[in-house]
Formats: sequence, C-alpha cells, structure tokens
Amino acid sequence: MIRWFKRGALILFLIGIIILSFILHNLPVDEYTVTFIDVGQSDCALINGNGTSILVDAGNEKDARNVRITLDRLNVKKLDMVVISHFDSDHIGGMSRIINDYKISKIIAPKTKKKYLPKSTSFDLLKKALKKHNLPITYVKSGDEFSFKGIFADVLSPNTEYGTSNEDCAVVKVKCGVRSFLFTGDISEKVEKRLLGGKVNLKADILKVSHHGSYTATSQKFLESVNPSYSVVSVSKYNNYNLPNVETMNRLYGYGCEVFRTDEMGSITFKINGNDIKVSVEK
Ligand SMILES: [Zn+2]
Repeated sequence: MIRWFKRGALILFLIGIIILSFILHNLPVDEYTVTFIDVGQSDCALINGNGTSILVDAGNEKDARNVRITLDRLNVKKLDMVVISHFDSDHIGGMSRIINDYKISKIIAPKTKKKYLPKSTSFDLLKKALKKHNLPITYVKSGDEFSFKGIFADVLSPNTEYGTSNEDCAVVKVKCGVRSFLFTGDISEKVEKRLLGGKVNLKADILKVSHHGSYTATSQKFLESVNPSYSVVSVSKYNNYNLPNVETMNRLYGYGCEVFRTDEMGSITFKINGNDIKVSVEK
C-alpha cells in the first residue's frame, strides 16, 4: 500500500515538473527593437519595447523626415524619453521637428555650462520648440539612472565638464532586458580613458561607435572593456571628413565584433527577445 502511495506521489511530482517547465517555456518574453536610423552623417537611434519608446539624438535638420517615417512605421505616438547626447547640429538638427510633432515625457542632455552651449540655427530651433511645448531639459551626469518597463538607461558620462561638446557628451548604457547597448555620442579617447579608470561597467552587447568612426575614439582598451558582439557606425557615403577612419574600422574588424555601417546598409535594426539578438539591415 505504502509502495503504491510512493509511486503515485512520484508520478504526480513528475507531471507537476512537466507542466511547470511547459508554462515557463511558454511564458511571453519581453521583446525590444532598437533601430539605428540611417540619417547620413549624423546620429539617431530609437529604442522600443514594452510600450516604451526612447529616442537617442535626431540627426541633422534634413533628417527629421526620415526619423518621422521610422517612428510612424513602428507606430510610435509618444516618446517616453529623448536623449540629447550633445548639442552639435548632427545630433539635434532634427530634434525641433520631433518635439513639435510628438508628445515627449522627458528630455535629457549632458550638464553643460551656459558658456559652452552652441550658437547654431539647430540649437535656436531646439530652444524655441522646447519653450513652445513647455518641455524643460533634465541635465544629467554620470550616475543618473532612468527606468522604464524592462528598459534601464544609466548615464555613465559626463562626470566633469571638459568644455567641448564632444567630450561633454552624455554616454548612456541602455539595458533592454538582459541585453545592453552603449551609446557613446561623439566622445574622444580622453573620455574613454576616464571611463576606463572609473568604476562603471562598460560591458555592452552592442556598441554605437563614437564620433561616426573617427580616429579620435574607439581605442583598443575601450573596445576590450566594452567587449561588444556588434558595433554600429553611423556615417554617410562620401562625407567631407573621411569617416569612418580606416584604422578605427580595422580595430573594430580585428576585434572580432560584427560591424554594421549605415552608409552601406541603411537603417540597422536589432531585435532582442530574451537572450536572442537578431539583426536586420535596410539594404
Ligand atoms: Zn556627431
């Protein structure tokens, strides 16, 4: 009798295990889409998932249309956060139109002294749009964190003011579930060194290569610390700056991460599903 009871309990236990593993296996996994929008010689990326949308930079003024097309295609109606890496025109040029056309909950930018703010049409248009929509900029520095449903944005830089827009860029690590993206803006090796000397965890699965692949950044040590599986260079064909730099590209290829370039591939989309990363390119 006892033996039968034990056998029955064992069978029930095994059935329970099978049902539990079936449920766990079929639980919905959060999905995220990160699109590096082809905006020519500038930067723009859209992070999407769990009903949250975050825009990082907005390209040049003429790129706003392309940014809008991507946002509309992904059915983005509002932006939970907009990140301004810095105030150079190739990062904020399209921003005023985005502010005018979409509901934005929060806009962040690196803490910048007034005397270091640029004098440009793009910046004037940005200020005008912000005022019109009563949208104040939240100025950030390293250590600031923002969290959304499954998406976390950690500000790693600036922690000091160098006084040049590129060096004072907001460097933001965005975690989408278990995968992470490092947005470096246009930082130089000087900032990379400071980041390497700090206590921040630079490791990221996907690296947005700094400064459109310029020779001024993406040092070997920085690459080793980030240890990316994929990297994205946002750059236009036949630009006047000779970008991306050949040595920087060779360093990326030599490191062994998969390299994606917007000038050759158009917009680049990463789909994150749990551990899974799938990449697709426009062309
Ligand atoms: Zn730039």
